[in-house]
Amino acid sequence: MPIATVNPATGETLKTFEAHGPDEIERRIALARAAVDEQRTLDFDTRARLLNRAAALLDEDQEHIARTMTVEMGKPIAAARAEAAKCAKAMRWYAHHAPRLLADEHPSPDDIKDAGAARAIVRYRPLGVVLAVMPWNFPLWQVVRFAAPALMAGNTGLLKHASNVPQTALYLHDLFRRAGWPEGSFSTLLVGSGAVEGVLRDRRIAAATLTGSEPAGRSVAAIAGDEVKKTVLELGGSDPYLVMSSADVDRAADTAVKARVQNNGQSCIAAKRFIVHTAVHDAFLERFTAGMRKLNVGDPLDESVQVGPLAMEQGRADLEELVEDALAHGAVARCGGRRPPGMDRGWFYEPTVLTGVDATMRIHQEETFGPVATVYRVADLDEAVALANNTPFGLSSNAWTRDEEEMARLAQDIEAGGVFFNGMTASHPALPFGGVKRSGYGRELSSHGIREFCNITTLWYG
Ligand code: NDP
Repeated sequence: MPIATVNPATGETLKTFEAHGPDEIERRIALARAAVDEQRTLDFDTRARLLNRAAALLDEDQEHIARTMTVEMGKPIAAARAEAAKCAKAMRWYAHHAPRLLADEHPSPDDIKDAGAARAIVRYRPLGVVLAVMPWNFPLWQVVRFAAPALMAGNTGLLKHASNVPQTALYLHDLFRRAGWPEGSFSTLLVGSGAVEGVLRDRRIAAATLTGSEPAGRSVAAIAGDEVKKTVLELGGSDPYLVMSSADVDRAADTAVKARVQNNGQSCIAAKRFIVHTAVHDAFLERFTAGMRKLNVGDPLDESVQVGPLAMEQGRADLEELVEDALAHGAVARCGGRRPPGMDRGWFYEPTVLTGVDATMRIHQEETFGPVATVYRVADLDEAVALANNTPFGLSSNAWTRDEEEMARLAQDIEAGGVFFNGMTASHPALPFGGVKRSGYGRELSSHGIREFCNITTLWYG
């Protein structure tokens, strides 16, 4: 895949980039490794000052970087601004909280009395250079939610960003440099995915984090496993959205529209499978379909547009294949199911609601990375839970119910890294984020995220 900015709203190639060659890759790895030695000795106050400075610069640059993201991957401009603001907030959050999250722990003398130590300390030290392989869908946020905690913990970061967001990747490199981080603390490698193995096997790389597709995750994890290097993987999702009989159906349907089409439907934590109790199914379906039909699809730089194009031509082709397979096997499109008529340029797809989906269809098990929802009717909670868990993925989930017993059951039985009641899944710096099953492993954000790339060191004093 060439490294290039191709506007998905028009299909036009705006700028192409030469990939870094072996000498430049070597130079950047060496700088990143050298920066570890400098950065791990910086105290928290210094790291926090640098991260807060990056947040301030990002706020100043918000309009510029928002437009860059929109032109590179097609998200509506208002959502791009919100993403930049969220990144600045997460930087400030980690600048403020990292000293507490990484403070020395002192096991109680009672707990260690038979360990032979007069005292012991648990210390969170950095691991070193972390390679971050990142996707295009939230091109700032996916990187910042790794970089902010990693830098506060004293690690350095090497970013291999998706090949279709090079300008955002270069912006991030420049942002941390302008904020005053030591040279090499955070660098972008402009390389294709073929270069990842060589970098990951380099002995100076300590660990890797990847957000993206299952094949990419499997490949990086296999290489890292071979090298015995720590990985965190955040892969796809096919999150269920349960609406039970006690739900506020109108709110559930209105939120369902947002939860499905956020980021033009290309979010790993977007709700994708809508599992609705038979008592409220028809009312939900009617309101949800009306909401999906009303969405304004078009140029994402237009402030009134709610759904832009898919980021890549191949992504739209994959989505079309899934929908066509479902329709061929008997599913019904309540709205959409095609490209918007008259929009010949760009990679647009109509917001789509499918019913009548069953296990004969690929869409029943595969992730829909675009504005396509499947709605299922269930008779009771048992059926809802079974269907929710009948997926290879386990990232997050949503459940609408006012029944405390149902909530307790769902909190216990849903196989996912999150259960969001009466709302939609969203990430927040204070809450752990990540999945189970084929959605990956490890956690980002919160205390759990910042400790993933730490050498948790036992200090034992006899
Ligand atoms: P990819 O997984 O292909 O891309 C994500 C990142 O991984 C990019 O930087 C990519 O580089 C890199 N990459 C791809 N293959 C490898 C590999 N074998 N070894 C090392 N690095 C690799 O995602 P796509 O952009 O192609 O999207 C395809 C599907 O991935 C989506 O339909 C969706 O299911 C899932 N996805 C999930 C995301 C999430 O947030 N969890 C985000 C994006 C995609 P390069 O761009 O150079 O190929």
